[in-house]
Amino acid sequence: MRSTMQDVPLSVADLVRYGTAVHGAASVVTWTGGEPRRSSLAEVGRRAARLAHALRELGVTGDQRVATFQWNNQEHLESYLAVPAMGAVLHTLNIRLHPDQIRYIANHAEDHVVIVDASLLPVLTPLLPDLKTVRHVVVAGGGPDDLPAPQAVPDGVQVHRYDELLAGRPEEFDWPVADERDAAAMCYTSGTTGDPRGVAYSHRSIWLHSMQVCMSDGLEVRPEDRVLAVVPMFHAMSWGLPYAALMVGCSLVLPDRFLQPGPLADMVAAERPTLAAAVPTVWQGLVRELETAPRDVSTLRRVVIGGAACPPALMRLFEERYGIPVLHAWGMTETSPLGSVAHPPAGAEGERRWSYRLSQGRLPASVRGRLVGADGHPVPHDGRGVGELEVRGPWVTGSYHRGADPDRFHDGWLRTGDVGTLTPDGYLRLTDRSKDVIKSGGEWISSVELEGHLMAHPDVREAAVVAVPDEKWGERPLAAVVLEPGAAAGFAELRDFLAEHVARWQLPDWWSLVAEVPKTSVGKFDKKLIRQQHAAGELA
Ligand code: ADP
Repeated sequence: MRSTMQDVPLSVADLVRYGTAVHGAASVVTWTGGEPRRSSLAEVGRRAARLAHALRELGVTGDQRVATFQWNNQEHLESYLAVPAMGAVLHTLNIRLHPDQIRYIANHAEDHVVIVDASLLPVLTPLLPDLKTVRHVVVAGGGPDDLPAPQAVPDGVQVHRYDELLAGRPEEFDWPVADERDAAAMCYTSGTTGDPRGVAYSHRSIWLHSMQVCMSDGLEVRPEDRVLAVVPMFHAMSWGLPYAALMVGCSLVLPDRFLQPGPLADMVAAERPTLAAAVPTVWQGLVRELETAPRDVSTLRRVVIGGAACPPALMRLFEERYGIPVLHAWGMTETSPLGSVAHPPAGAEGERRWSYRLSQGRLPASVRGRLVGADGHPVPHDGRGVGELEVRGPWVTGSYHRGADPDRFHDGWLRTGDVGTLTPDGYLRLTDRSKDVIKSGGEWISSVELEGHLMAHPDVREAAVVAVPDEKWGERPLAAVVLEPGAAAGFAELRDFLAEHVARWQLPDWWSLVAEVPKTSVGKFDKKLIRQQHAAGELA
């Protein structure tokens, strides 16, 4: 028997229609370094309609890709609304990637238009001759002279100024009805472990994922929240926060390019966000800033940490010194990105509660997970058996754009490349990425676990652990350590400290003092680069 339910497509257009009307009063603040720019969802909606008219005039029809090369700011949000709602595909380009990767991605996605922040023209302009499908460059922000030099613009490419393009256009757009399974937006993985791979989100997946972001077992975004979205809008759709804002009407605080710890602390004190989200390295920077120059961060009722394992010391510091609970979440570009979120189960107290909160969290009803062992056999979900996590769900990608890397899919499941355990009650605990786990003499050593312990030492500011080749054992751990200024701990002391927490055979054989742990384009430890540096003899 078929249901009697109406078959209503889920679409970004409906989300835009709803959010900009019902939640039109929700504020959208962009940090500028001076007086913040204040707007509302209603105003963003009106400007998104103008943008859609302008893009139509530039010939954007069907599912053409409109790329953004922007910070987190109001104009970027306008594209988040306009492009998918008009039936085109929003492609958020990662501004921090290597130029070769940006070229590769823009060509692979066949971007037709690029909307670029004026401050990023020095990065984009030299690439223009190689962007084969781009016909229009739209420059947002900056002064009247902030345009690419005419001789740098290839024949057949037109340059426009964003505000001039929007000026005088209607503030309403008759958003078309999309097929809910069509692509609405796309994002490439940041390529930590190989060539960037394209993921195309559907209208349906964005809608369902937005609901999960707001749910009580998700990030629990509420209408009264003021959400500081530090996570870039080019990193897995800013973890779904912009669309969640349309859904529940929370306010957004967008940091633009002011992502250093000082401005971020100022932003929290001035704009009084209640929820903020970013990768661990951002929060490590913020807590150090607060230690030297305290600010009022008491409005934060929750800090979401994801994208890489949250060091236990960081979670405890936030909670014990600032009274701010950390919510740890796991996800991937491929999972929209919300996978698991570490809300502890009811009744868990004390260390047990901490242990749940430090895990990668519980998979929600819509995301199924299973573990596959190195021998290809299923691993039981008993909290002990270790295997590669595979996931399946309505906002998990089933392939990569243009069929890249089919090996990453297994009977309709996504191979995450993450290794860990699952408990019978659905909690995921990752030991490592399969590429980062240290395989020593037939045993596995978790780089994440060693890092977590090392970063709990008061003299250690940052620590990254990677595998280096070893004749006898296959691989052995190397620890790259950044000490706090003036700290004196030697490697012997750090080794003894680690030995209190892990087996002796897991202790790093190699130690290196570094000024900074290299970071990827989205602020994670760049372990590939550390391994290369070691191989090239560049680590002391
Ligand atoms: P990239 O793969 O290029 O780094 P993503 O941001 O999509 O880009 O990275 C997803 C990966 O990040 C996951 O597969 C996992 O290895 C890691 N990750 C994300 N969140 C966590 C977390 N909370 N704990 C440990 N690892 C995480």
